[in-house]
Amino acid sequence: MRVVFMGPPGAGKGTQAVELARRQGVPHLSLGDMLRQAAAEGSELGLRAREFMERGALVPDQVVVGLVEERLGRPDCQAGFVLDGFPRTLAQAEALERILARQGRGLDAVLNLEVDDESLVERLVGRRVCRRCGQNYHLRHRPPRRDEVCDVCGGELYQREDDREETVRRRLEVHRANSAPILGLYRAAGLLRAVDGRGGVEEVAAAVSRAVGEGAGP
Ligand code: AMP
Repeated sequence: MRVVFMGPPGAGKGTQAVELARRQGVPHLSLGDMLRQAAAEGSELGLRAREFMERGALVPDQVVVGLVEERLGRPDCQAGFVLDGFPRTLAQAEALERILARQGRGLDAVLNLEVDDESLVERLVGRRVCRRCGQNYHLRHRPPRRDEVCDVCGGELYQREDDREETVRRRLEVHRANSAPILGLYRAAGLLRAVDGRGGVEEVAAAVSRAVGEGAGP
């Protein structure tokens, strides 16, 4: 199964993409995670990406397309993948089509998780992430048992630089401007499926499942 998850930052793409990938037994490819990892490793690409990420701006297309192309070429993507956070520009969408066409493949579906802006700001600004294992928390909806300490590994929790309110609002604007033409492209190709992202994690997971036809018998 080859699926792309679309939707604004904070819509729950990461959580839902991880779950779908697990159910399908294919890799989950998060561009945000891949870029943060490159930045943490201090590679030239990573340091370049970090300048943009800290401002809430998109990393240049050629940087992310190169990363994705390399990743999709690895053997574990043969059986499929769940892409999360890519494409975010029309140029990236077109590059993805070319990369897959060269491999003789195409996408099966593009899921668009829909959530209103004020809920997104509240979700993102309250988010905390474990520095050590990457586990996500929310100050109100999913607090850790001990303040600022990860329940899973005891690591320190922090607020991502790009989860500060001003940056979040900027990211939502950037997202809206960039996603409209991509959604248009996928709608025209008959791949786009809208998924209501407002409910709890399980409710949304069930909607995702229906959208990709999981569990629908022969
Ligand atoms: P995320 O974790 O998906 O919210 O991404 C965090 C940041 O990584 C974004 O604000 C961008 O700066 C950068 N980023 C992630 N995915 C992409 C992409 N497909 N194209 C450009 N920049 C990206």
